[in-house]
Amino acid sequence: MRTQRAAFLGIMAAALLICCRGKDAVPAVAPAEISETKYVALTFDDGPRACTTGRLLDGLRERGASATFFLIGQQIAGNEELVCRMKDEGHQVGNHTWDHVKLQGISPAVVSEEISRTDNAIRDILGDGTYWVRPPYGLLNKNQYCCFSTPLVHWSVDPEDWKLKNTQKVTAAVLKKVQPGDIILLHDAYQTSVDAALQIVDTLEAEGYEFVTVKELLALYGVTPQAGKFYTDTREKAG
Ligand SMILES: [Zn+2]
Repeated sequence: MRTQRAAFLGIMAAALLICCRGKDAVPAVAPAEISETKYVALTFDDGPRACTTGRLLDGLRERGASATFFLIGQQIAGNEELVCRMKDEGHQVGNHTWDHVKLQGISPAVVSEEISRTDNAIRDILGDGTYWVRPPYGLLNKNQYCCFSTPLVHWSVDPEDWKLKNTQKVTAAVLKKVQPGDIILLHDAYQTSVDAALQIVDTLEAEGYEFVTVKELLALYGVTPQAGKFYTDTREKAG
């Protein structure tokens, strides 16, 4: 309440200032600065997919929403244009291994091969950058974290879209659980998930949410990303 009251007083002070300065004065307090935006990150695994990812990118662009895409390396060939669009349209591109192998417990050499092969495929298209990693199934042993030279991304909202394959159920599962600062897991491999994602964006944008990349989300909540550390949401529950 105290914050709201302070904001209200701020507006009144700004209004008085404008009155005193005359009609050409610029407001000292812009509405965007006093309304609290809620930020959330949509993430999409297992793409790019020729049948679904383009439609998703179109829908996100229409809504001014950014997302993060964790790509399977072997899906990239033939879908280079979609990968370019992801970067050009403000999304974050990440690495989801070469062939979606479970990395948990496997040798450092195999982990390195899975990650570097995909990293190289992304770099061939997008150039230098830091392409964060999401291990398939979100699974890794803690003693493997140190193998990674980028931050690792988990999630805090998982509607199990791959299992439900039902737009309304996936949408409802996300909307029931989501809070500001969450990282939502979806897969752009299914038309139902694309439809759900766009419905989720429509609903949450109307509630004052803004969709940003995982990298932006962490920055907005003051979290400094570190290599070899898992991020589940902006509350830093995971180590
Ligand atoms: Zn996956």
